[in-house]
Amino acid sequence: MRILGVLHPSGLLSSTAAALTVVLPLYGVGGAQASPPAEATPTPAATLFENVRIFNGTSPQLSPASNVLVVGSTIRTISTAPISPPSGSALTRVAGNGRVLMPGLIDNHVHLLMSASSQRDLVDPKMPLALLQERATAEAGATLMRGFTSVRDLGGPMLEARPAIDRGRLPGPRIYPSGAMISQTSGHGDSRLPNEKSRRFFGHVSRGELMGANFIADGRDEVLTATRENLRAGASQIKVMAGGGAASEYDPLDVTQYTLDEMKAAVEAAEDWGTYVTVHAYTPRAVRRAVEAGVKCIEHGQLLDEATIKLLADRGIWLSLQSLDPAPPTAKPATAAKKKLVIDGTDNAFRWALKHNVKLAWGTDFLFDPAQNVKQNADILKLRRWLGPAQILKLVTHDNAQLLALSGPRNPYPGRLGVVEPGALADLLLVDGDPLGNLELIADPQRRFLVIMKDGRIWKNTTAFNAAASSR
Ligand SMILES: [Zn+2]
Repeated sequence: MRILGVLHPSGLLSSTAAALTVVLPLYGVGGAQASPPAEATPTPAATLFENVRIFNGTSPQLSPASNVLVVGSTIRTISTAPISPPSGSALTRVAGNGRVLMPGLIDNHVHLLMSASSQRDLVDPKMPLALLQERATAEAGATLMRGFTSVRDLGGPMLEARPAIDRGRLPGPRIYPSGAMISQTSGHGDSRLPNEKSRRFFGHVSRGELMGANFIADGRDEVLTATRENLRAGASQIKVMAGGGAASEYDPLDVTQYTLDEMKAAVEAAEDWGTYVTVHAYTPRAVRRAVEAGVKCIEHGQLLDEATIKLLADRGIWLSLQSLDPAPPTAKPATAAKKKLVIDGTDNAFRWALKHNVKLAWGTDFLFDPAQNVKQNADILKLRRWLGPAQILKLVTHDNAQLLALSGPRNPYPGRLGVVEPGALADLLLVDGDPLGNLELIADPQRRFLVIMKDGRIWKNTTAFNAAASSR
């Protein structure tokens, strides 16, 4: 692999990532290799990680010292014996020196655009959408530099830079977009200001709808259209609001949202495209209705009782859990009180989910507070209350990848993720130290993640054996 140069990403990445070295591989247009002979088939670039111990995404034990060959976007060979690289490939050698190679991290509940700006900026009609998109693009780059190679975006305007990210022109994770959140009038995704009238009754289309953050859809017809609009725009799964929310001001936590028939409409339209609906819901009533409608994944669920969590296990439905921080002191008392209820329920939700062997996924769900985003890695450490290091690392790699795969034919990145295995997509981190022995290492990506690879491309390499020197 030849190195185009070192990108100083001021203005591109947030200040937290600005100090990092971003290595841009030299690829031609459309991802082809640079300057192949005129008539030859381009040979994909290769990377050889030498002398690494592997956390493979599932095993609680590291492998013995191994070598890992990546060719193109996939892992080709893993062996304790020396591997001879393919001839004709531009090769980068990474000297592992016994360090740990692991799958890239996966965050299954992000809002890329709505976590990159404050709520005030998001609702300000004078704030240009282009600026909000620019911030989200920078945040996507910072997300990759924190070692997150895939994220599931659980609602909000789709990132306009995503095609450029997928082509390797800009740093960022694989993004599984939901598109605009689908909410009933008065639901958790009804982001109108208090005095704004419904567009159906004397009002206008709200800013959130215009910017692609949400659909306010009532009745089977509108839910079908909203779902299909998202699918048309490339959603890999559909996000529906099934109950009250902590972050929203007008809908109490206990309320159930969408009738069974409206919810079924979303499920039918999603399943006709081979994918699934996931719902925002906390309470047993909201979750049971969603389950009855055919929803395949529940986001949050911190107010569930044990019987409903067992129902999720029995039906093979995913529970995507978060461990939230308390509301900031500046929050309104009602909002803080709602958030406390959710936080208080979190312990039971995790314990019962583990007891009944629910398919568990994890995500951060950061919103409206750009300063919080640097805590994305540290958020994983909170799981130590319920899980050991090996279980946690499996959850944020292999298990989370299983949920991503639920998008079926709408999966934008077909191939195995979350594992280090021959044939899997090469999303890899080289960690300075053993995260199974010391999980805190993953909360210090800037110092501890020496190599960050996504889709076979190296985006960061600070090993002593410099990538630039290995160009050949
Ligand atoms: Zn969310």
